[in-house]
This record gives sequence, C-alpha cells and structure tokens, in this order.
Amino acid sequence: MADKRIPTKMYLEESELPRYWYNLNAVLKHDPALNPKTLKPVTAEDLSEVFCEELVKQELNDKDEYIPIPEEIQEFYRMIRPSPLTRAYCLEKVLDTPAEIYYKFEGNNTSGSHKLNSAVAQAYYAKQQGLTSLTTETGAGQWGTALSMACAYYGLDLTVFMVKCSAEQKPFRRAVIETYGGKVIPSPSETTKVGREILKAFPNTGGSLGCAVSEATEKALETPNCKYVLGSVLDHVILHQTIIGLELKAVLEKYNIEPDMLISCIGGGSNFGGFVAPFIKDKISGTKNYRIIGVEPASCPSLTRGKYAYDFGDTGKMTPLLKMYTLGNGFMPTANHSGGLRYHGMNPFVSKLYHDGIIEATSVEQTKVFEAAVTFAKSEGILPAPESSHSIRVAIDEALKCKETGEKKKIVFCLTGTGYFDLKAYTAYNNKTMTDYIPTDEELQKGFDSLPNIEHNK
Ligand SMILES: *Cc1c(COP(=O)(O)O)cnc(C)c1O
Repeated sequence: MADKRIPTKMYLEESELPRYWYNLNAVLKHDPALNPKTLKPVTAEDLSEVFCEELVKQELNDKDEYIPIPEEIQEFYRMIRPSPLTRAYCLEKVLDTPAEIYYKFEGNNTSGSHKLNSAVAQAYYAKQQGLTSLTTETGAGQWGTALSMACAYYGLDLTVFMVKCSAEQKPFRRAVIETYGGKVIPSPSETTKVGREILKAFPNTGGSLGCAVSEATEKALETPNCKYVLGSVLDHVILHQTIIGLELKAVLEKYNIEPDMLISCIGGGSNFGGFVAPFIKDKISGTKNYRIIGVEPASCPSLTRGKYAYDFGDTGKMTPLLKMYTLGNGFMPTANHSGGLRYHGMNPFVSKLYHDGIIEATSVEQTKVFEAAVTFAKSEGILPAPESSHSIRVAIDEALKCKETGEKKKIVFCLTGTGYFDLKAYTAYNNKTMTDYIPTDEELQKGFDSLPNIEHNK
C-alpha cells in the first residue's frame, strides 16, 4: 500500500489555478447599499464618483456567478500564487490533538498579507480606465503596502491615509510604502476638511479606519483623474479575495480532504468572505455541513455585539449606507495591536450570512491571541500577524476540544499574513505589558447613538 500520509505542503499546479473569481452576489442577495441623500439603492452613477468604473460594475453585478480574471491579473497572481495549504503536523503534535489542522498561508509576498490579491486587481482596472492616481486608507499598513506595490507595478501615483497610531507604531511599514512610491499621510490630518473637523472634535485621537476612509474619499473627489480604492468591506474586494477560497476548494478536492471547520479572522470581512464564499452554496443547500467561523477582537466586536442596521462606512458620513453589523460610525476602537481588525462595520454579505445563521462568529481577547501566536510561531515556524492569530486562537481551542472528545475533526484556517511589522506588539506581549480591553455596554451605546436615524433602521 502506498503511503497515504497527507503532505505537509499542498500546492496546485499552474494549470490548476482558478481563472475566475466567485461572485457570491449571484447566489445570495443582501439588502442594497443606499445613497445617503435619496435613501434609494445606490446606482452605478453614484458609485462612479469615487470608485473605478469596472469595480462599480463588479460591486453591482448580481448575475454572473463566475467572473473571468483578466489575463494580466492572472500573470501577476502567478508571481505570488498559489498560496500553499499546509498541514500543521508540528502544531498538532505540540497540542497532542487527534484533530487535523490545516492553514492556507497568504503572507508569502512582500506586503505580507492577502491584501495584494485585491490591490493588484484594483490598480489594474484603474490603469485600464486611464486614471493617473489613487487614494486609500490603511490601518495596520498591510493594505497601504499592498496597494503601493500594485501602483508601482502599473505606474500609478498613490496617496495613503494611514491611521495615525499605526503610522507611529510602525515606522517601517511606512518606509516600505514609501519605497514603492506611495505618499503617506498620518490620519486624521490637516490636509482635508474632514480631517480638520475630526481633529477639532478629538484632538488626541490616534485615528481610526473610519476617519482615514473619509479623508481618502475627500482627497479623491478633489484630485483630477483620481479615484478612491478600498481594501476591504465592499463586495468587489471579497470578489477578488475569492481566489483564496477557490484555490482552497481545489486543493482540498485534489487531496481528498473534507473539512469540518473553516475559520478566519474578520476586520471588514474581505479575507473571510473570500475564504468561505465558494463553500457557501453547499452549506446553504445542506450538501455540506461545515462549521464556518469568523473571529473578531473582543475590543472591536462588530458581529458579536454590533447592531444589524444601515450605517456609513466612515466617520465623516460620506460613503453609501450599508446594511451591516456595526458598532456605529462614531465608534472609536481602543488602540489594540490588531490594526487590521479595528473597524466599526462589516461587509454586508458576511453580515447577512451571520444574520441568517449560516456562519458563526466569536470574539477573542488580545493576550489570548498572542499566546496562540507564540505557540504557532514556535511549532510551525511562521511569525503570524496579530490579525491572523485570532484564527489561530480559535483553531487551537477547537483542536483542544477534540483532545477532550477524541474527535478527529479537520480544521482549516486562513493564515492571512505575517507579523514582522508588529514587533512592538510582540514586545508588549513578551514583557507582559499587554492588556485586554473589552468595551462596556455604555461605551458601545455611544457608538450606536451615531447610527443614522432613518426609516430603515426603525
Ligand atoms: C487587513 C487584514 C485582515 C483583516 O481584513 P479583512 O478585510 O477582514 O480580511 C486580516 N489579516 C491581515 C493580515 C490583514 O492585513
């Protein structure tokens, strides 16, 4: 009998790589985004003021389940993909669990995360449209890095509004963005009207993604031949990230692995959405009964403690209204170390999937997350991003439950990125100065008070 041992690293051949993205919009409808002025569903025209045309088409496409990936983007993907699926044999041994643990590793590129999957697509479409520059926001810095790489590749100028506390905590992240030619402005800044207003109201704020989105949008509206691009939250970003889930599905089939659990962390929902989208149809139809679990920080618990309501995507109330789980556009998350997960809202699909009970969500505390990160680093060798370590925490907890019950569950999680720029956070954990913060109900209420007072929310 041949050795049936599952390999440690599983890849797809170049010829097996997905040539299409998966469009969940064609399978499952969520409540439409609304124009905040008319309260009518947003039109392509509304969105095209700030976004690239092709991305707007993708955002509103609810017909095509598969959308072809342009050959030029496939060419770029071939430099950084496929990402490997790894069997975590060493972690399993350390945990002494009968569970099988697998992870799809998206951190194998210079930007260090999955964000490059969408950045390259967005920059490509901007270039096709004849634009000369883009603006964006970045929280932890991974999106800004990915987009600066993509803009350098396509010869576009880029301005990145970087959440201030993150720009201060991660000067080297900033240096990478600048090396690829991106211009970094710590946010909130004096360079925009909305930035000046936020600074007046919160002079000492370390900023938030919601603020940075407002500033980047304003800047795009005022710059000729320039559009704004977003690294998460919207459906077209999930669309690009489905490359992760499509590869995963193909490689699981290739190696005959039937997962019991799919786990990933959620900030705005893009990696999670892309990771699980190709599995949703089977889950809804009941053909497959995997558990699908999103993990968020206890300090910014959009799904587990938020409200399902229409809200703005930004603090300055400039974006369309999205029906989503939200802590309120006025929610100011505390400065925890998982910058990529500090966002008040959530992608509308992920929100609907949670609302309909198709997926589960759980929240975890920072020190527990870092404990899991260190266990993983010591056994599997990779220094994980704090965001990704939320998934590791839950994967480890589920594997430890299997140890109790003797079940051989197959646990698959998305390792979204690496933590080389998060060493301040690791230092705080190592020195035992890291703290946990869980907002009180009163604190959350302040955020909920900022929800738009419209008929749809009553
Ligand atoms: C941005 C980021 C996340 C969270 O963003 P999503 O859009 O929710 O996926 C998670 N992990 C890493 C490494 C990130 O950079």
